[in-house]
Amino acid sequence: MSPSVWTKEDVINAMRRVPRHRFVPDESAHLAREDQPLPIGYGQTISQPTMVAIMTDLLQLYAGARVLEIGTGSGYQAALLAELGAEVYSVEIIPALAEQAAQTLQATGYGGHVQIRLGDGYHGWPEHAPYDAIIITAAAPSLPAPLVDQVDVGGRIIVPIGLPERRQHLWVYDKAPGGTLHAQKWGEVAFVPFTRE
Ligand code: SAH
Repeated sequence: MSPSVWTKEDVINAMRRVPRHRFVPDESAHLAREDQPLPIGYGQTISQPTMVAIMTDLLQLYAGARVLEIGTGSGYQAALLAELGAEVYSVEIIPALAEQAAQTLQATGYGGHVQIRLGDGYHGWPEHAPYDAIIITAAAPSLPAPLVDQVDVGGRIIVPIGLPERRQHLWVYDKAPGGTLHAQKWGEVAFVPFTRE
């Protein structure tokens, strides 16, 4: 039997269980229930909950799935994926954020299901590939080529694409048998830029 894909309702229920206020700085904890992005330091933000819900739903995953996230940030998206039963591998380029996210994930009980690597996510995390899906939470100029090899056939890559200060769109790439990618444009979004080492 194939595992059952999580529904929008599963995602929303899981979001109710992940304490978003623990993933933001103390001074903005009182805003954690608002549907807005919030600063997390180093010029980065924790995404707006609606955007997190949409991307999590688009991943079309299921409990037990293995997912690669590029852009750990606060660790909130990773915690939500773990709450839904996924095994999460997450890459972050800013050392202090990687460190802080690892601590928050431990403290909130998600540490056992999320592994964090410090580095440039352009290269993915080949040692644990293939993944059932890949989610990129910063806006890249184009789909990072190394990630294509790291998603399994039948899997998806979700990525905001656009240059800094320009319009960005969320793209969904499905990897078909034989390795062909099928792209669909989801809609306009606003993310912090994907940076390179
Ligand atoms: N998923 C995060 C949102 C983080 S904002 C959350 O739930 O809080 C985007 C993050 O991507 C930032 O932390 C930024 O430092 C990181 N990032 C940007 N470029 C990156 C790269 N090349 N590799 C890994 N992380 C990157």
